[in-house]
Amino acid sequence: MISALTRFSFVVCLALIAAFITLYNWGPEYAIVVGVFLLSVPLVYSYINLARLGKYVQSDSIENMPLPSGFWEEVFFRLQRLVKTLKQRMRNIEQQHERFIEAFQASPNGILMLDESDQIEWCNSISERFFGLIFKRDVMQRINFLIRRPEFIQYLNKRNFDEPLLLERMGPDSSLSLMLQAFPFGNQRHLLLVQNVTDLQKADAMRRDFVANVSHEMRTPITVLMGFLETVQSLELEKNQREQYFDMMMSQAQRMKSLVEDLLTLANLEANSLPAATNQVNVETLMALLKNDAEALSHGNHSFTFEVLNKNNLLGDEREILSAFSNLVSNAIRYTPEAGAIHVKWIVNADGQGEFSVTDTGPGIASEHLSRLTERFYRIDRSRSRDTGGTGLGLAIVKHIANRHQAQLTIESTPGKGSTFKLRFPKERLSS
Ligand code: ADP
Repeated sequence: MISALTRFSFVVCLALIAAFITLYNWGPEYAIVVGVFLLSVPLVYSYINLARLGKYVQSDSIENMPLPSGFWEEVFFRLQRLVKTLKQRMRNIEQQHERFIEAFQASPNGILMLDESDQIEWCNSISERFFGLIFKRDVMQRINFLIRRPEFIQYLNKRNFDEPLLLERMGPDSSLSLMLQAFPFGNQRHLLLVQNVTDLQKADAMRRDFVANVSHEMRTPITVLMGFLETVQSLELEKNQREQYFDMMMSQAQRMKSLVEDLLTLANLEANSLPAATNQVNVETLMALLKNDAEALSHGNHSFTFEVLNKNNLLGDEREILSAFSNLVSNAIRYTPEAGAIHVKWIVNADGQGEFSVTDTGPGIASEHLSRLTERFYRIDRSRSRDTGGTGLGLAIVKHIANRHQAQLTIESTPGKGSTFKLRFPKERLSS
């Protein structure tokens, strides 16, 4: 490449030579004109190209500028290449930035970036929902002005972020439990991560309730049993009196056994994989089994009708389906007073769903209890349930089995008249 100084010297020499030739042939006036003209040609050329460059710079389109020929061609070519590379680099950085933002937005956790004065530099939309923030409005606001909970302000002021902080009754309708922790990064900045732990908290509360309920249910028969044992041990009893005590002890032991069995059934249902939709369960055979058990349980105190209106088989786990059906039938027997009627029916309805129903003429259930009947240990009349050998887990087991077969449990009841419990299986769970 020829250097700028060489080019300049070349032009000056050319102008001087031309000026001397002209001086020699036409005189000094012409020599000056020719010399000045030759010196001004590169100036004009440069001026024109600078003006063009100015125009393309203003419209931010240097990359599209047509290249001139000569010295400026290379300059413009290099300038264009530089601008193109810089713009491409900027585009890559922008794309990367957008991808980071998209990833943070896709996170199920709230993410807030705080600067060294705890002002919000950025937050994702889930944290806007958690704390009622609006990023555009609240950007660069101090977070302790926006989240006013004392425990949060204390956490922030303490500057000890080793442990997370649990904030309860948060969110739009104060229904969320949020676990929050700050992590330092960069120059005294903090990343605030917020996790919605509402379901975990609920599951934890349910587990605590469940353990408390089981302990309570077990404690009563154990206390009674121990009372009887002490009496039998310490008192000289008549033979028939002792037998009476043993019978009572047996019934308490039986109660504990039923409870443990129901708990194991629930545990198994939770642990096992979903029942395959390929095992054929013959409903007619199940109904025959149910009828035998029901008559034995009722001791002739109730009148029964068992109807099988369609021959379709069910697809699922036979033991589970039998357990759900017999729970409903045994409830009807246990809660329906003597001389009551119990109607058990299997039908495929107009929508093609298989419907198993148990209707009784028992006491019925007030509407406020209906939605809670399938909760574990929920009973309307605790002593009636216990007297009839109930554990409070029967309908929870039925509901669980229904869910595992994509079936729906519905309860219709009129207090004083009776109840109908229905299990509705989808078409896909029936075979012809
Ligand atoms: P339990 O072992 O106490 O019977 P369930 O879960 O089977 O437990 O039933 C829950 C509650 O629902 C019962 O305690 C009872 O109050 C009520 N219930 C269930 N079936 C009937 C029915 N056929 N008629 C009246 N009440 C019923």
